[in-house]
Amino acid sequence: MKTIATLGSHCALQLLKGAKDEGLHTLLICLKKRANLYRRFNFIEKTILVERFDEVIQAEKQEELLKEDSILIPHGTLISEVGVDLVERALKVPLFGNRWILRWEADRRLKERLMREAGLEPPPQLKPEEIDRLCIVKLPGAAGGRGYFLVSSREEFNSFAEKLKASGLVKSEEDFYIQEYCVGVPIYFQYFYSPLEEKVELLGIDRRYETSVDSIGRIPAKYQINLNIPLTYIVVGNIPLVLRESLLDEAYEIGEAFVEASKKNVPPGMIGPFCIEGVYTDNGSFVPFEFSARIVAGTNLYIDGSPYSKLIYDEPMSMGRRIAREIKNGLERGALDKIIT
Ligand code: AMP
Repeated sequence: MKTIATLGSHCALQLLKGAKDEGLHTLLICLKKRANLYRRFNFIEKTILVERFDEVIQAEKQEELLKEDSILIPHGTLISEVGVDLVERALKVPLFGNRWILRWEADRRLKERLMREAGLEPPPQLKPEEIDRLCIVKLPGAAGGRGYFLVSSREEFNSFAEKLKASGLVKSEEDFYIQEYCVGVPIYFQYFYSPLEEKVELLGIDRRYETSVDSIGRIPAKYQINLNIPLTYIVVGNIPLVLRESLLDEAYEIGEAFVEASKKNVPPGMIGPFCIEGVYTDNGSFVPFEFSARIVAGTNLYIDGSPYSKLIYDEPMSMGRRIAREIKNGLERGALDKIIT
């Protein structure tokens, strides 16, 4: 029987619980300082302790994983702590999903290209000298909105940029990604694409709970102005959401278009979980600005299934369990090569 392995962070509990529910073995690559947390959960059968997550690339750690017949499930921490270069070049352990598409998530230029190919038009990108309206400035890396800031003029941008460069957080002006700010309500669609069934499933929807954007409305306007509170987008959790039913058809079309574009541009295309992120504006249109080409932490809301998974499955179907189910089906049908790279 295969072992489902993952890094101990992000959505590891959900992934391993789902694997166990599907009768697969489970293995956690765990930071020594977090061992106390994960020890509490008896669905974790085996643990490899590390000081740093990038140790997973070391030959003896990989051998241990291979000896256990592991399939590694990627999540945000694999991208931020190990990085796409090592995942592409040095990871010998089979990875669930398309390892080549992770680069398209991490690189903003590739990301925009794939979105456009899918007919998903992101808000316009501006150069510093073009800032003449409210813009959001993003920093490199999958850091969950850390360090983002809002500006409405070149001067304002300069003063933020200088501070960030001085702090060493950002090296050059090219590292800033300036995007028109889009006023709307944020929505995150959680999809699963099954290459075995050739079908997109919408398994959940959420929004993020971010500081300080989601806390600033809790104080009266006069304090908001006087305190000059910087807006930050650091994710501290996720909130479940259901969509107006009349918008659901478009949500499916968006996911399907993304899968088609991924097949053409990043063979073998999207495999398993992915997420499209954006806002709905007041004219009812969806403006996309990001995708994640792997499981997102917002799926942790639905360990017991979501309103949308319930429409497809008559059993609790988390994203983690859905991944394990696909692996099990792949094993039974002798088609594992369609879902791992
Ligand atoms: P991201 O890192 O792109 O997932 O975004 C982090 C936060 O910034 C989320 O709350 C988004 O809603 C917000 N955000 C990102 N891009 C835009 C945009 N162009 N307009 C408005 N909000 C945005």
